[in-house]
Amino acid sequence: MAEKRVLVVGGGVIGLCTAYYLVKAGANVILLERDEIGSGASSGNAGAVAPGHGPMTRPGRIFQALKWMGDPTSPLYLPLKWNPSLWRWLIRFNSFCTEKHVQRSMEVLGPLGHLGRRLFDEMVEEEELSCGYKQEGYYDVFRTPEGFQGAQEEMHLQHRHGYDTRSVAGSELQELEPTLKMGTEGGLFFPEAATLDPGRFLTELARAASHRGLEIRTGIEVREVVGKGHRAVGVYLTNGDVVDGDAVVLATGAYSLSLAEAAGLDLPIEPAKGYHQDLPMVDQGIGQPSLTMMFGERYVFCTPMGDFLRLAGTLELSGLNHDIVPDRLHNLTGSARRYLAGLGVGESRDDWVGLRPVTPDGLPILGPAPGLDGLFIANGHAMLGLTLGPVTGKLLAEWILEGRPNSAGQIPEAGAAGVDLSALRPDRF
Ligand SMILES: Cc1cc2nc3c(=O)[nH]c(=O)nc-3n(C[C@H](O)[C@H](O)[C@H](O)COP(=O)(O)OP(=O)(O)OC[C@H]3O[C@@H](n4cnc5c(N)ncnc54)[C@H](O)[C@@H]3O)c2cc1C
Repeated sequence: MAEKRVLVVGGGVIGLCTAYYLVKAGANVILLERDEIGSGASSGNAGAVAPGHGPMTRPGRIFQALKWMGDPTSPLYLPLKWNPSLWRWLIRFNSFCTEKHVQRSMEVLGPLGHLGRRLFDEMVEEEELSCGYKQEGYYDVFRTPEGFQGAQEEMHLQHRHGYDTRSVAGSELQELEPTLKMGTEGGLFFPEAATLDPGRFLTELARAASHRGLEIRTGIEVREVVGKGHRAVGVYLTNGDVVDGDAVVLATGAYSLSLAEAAGLDLPIEPAKGYHQDLPMVDQGIGQPSLTMMFGERYVFCTPMGDFLRLAGTLELSGLNHDIVPDRLHNLTGSARRYLAGLGVGESRDDWVGLRPVTPDGLPILGPAPGLDGLFIANGHAMLGLTLGPVTGKLLAEWILEGRPNSAGQIPEAGAAGVDLSALRPDRF
């Protein structure tokens, strides 16, 4: 049988991981990226491989967002502008902010996180990816009793899905990380988590996948999927060319609306902007942070990445744009100063924004698209795109080449029946 030719559209972590597993399984793969590899949300994230976390849709989340509305220093920001389509999306999102939905989502996200972490270990070792990969977990840190107490619920949720998340007293945290200010209330330790430099991870993975035969074409924008009868047979490019393929994967993150609409798909993806600042490590006489932490009340990650510290976070629902709002950017360092004593005074060496692709039910979209055989979707990974990149790629590669995501049936933590991926179906909206 002739080798299957697969076109992967989008060179973020999702597209690249999918392309990697496809070439590893022997497929002929072309990855089409309109800009550079990692130019979307994937290179600038906080670098936490954070399995075991649930969806963004949590009870009370919208109420919290409304309370924060208009406050440019809040972790979650809704602009005070009337935008009917955003509000329709938010109403839909709100309908999933229930305990029942969190439990249902964890039935999928829990096992996928376990497999995803194992795949990271395997991939980094097998391909010798030099990306600062540390299998040391990370910490959520809280300064208020309410924050610390609320975190216990997250811990119990994770325990129910086989994670060894641990509660840590403030004094222990301060001993482990002397740069934390006095008065730290407590935190959680996520031992199954790992960290890496996501930009280096993508560069290294692209190298490894190319070595295995992946053809990467950058500066190539896809306009539309080409359909023949009920089959996807390639893509039209914006320069007028056509690239033929036996299967097409759309992994275009928050930028997917026009491509999806042209293919007749309803993908209700909302871009959720996040920021980062990379600060040079400046010795303040008290040493430099060595642990990866998430400052709990402010939702800001602090990840040491070699000679710099990445502060990353905030969630802004302001549409498809890359505008940097200075107040929101400076909110990262402002937040970090609440937790850390003597945060570096060095000039930021990189100010960045990226758009997380978020679905109304907070779950990724994964699998064959309705209506066109051979078209597959991998999108909507929100806050967990790095974490779920390898597992998404592996399952999708199996779906495309073997007709079903076989590894989903072999995750010990999911029980004998394996994990049911129907909650992620592209036609669920
Ligand atoms: C501040 C911040 C911190 C984060 N921290 C973490 C973290 O610690 N851990 C974690 O797991 N996740 C984290 N995330 C989330 C994670 O970064 C995203 O979920 C993930 O990057 C999404 O990957 P993607 O491949 O779907 O999209 P993207 O990375 O956006 O990739 C999509 C690609 O498609 C390309 N493209 C779009 N349209 C076309 C077209 N028509 N033709 C060709 N190419 C096209 C784009 O140029 C882009 O390169 C964070 C996100 C942010 C913003």
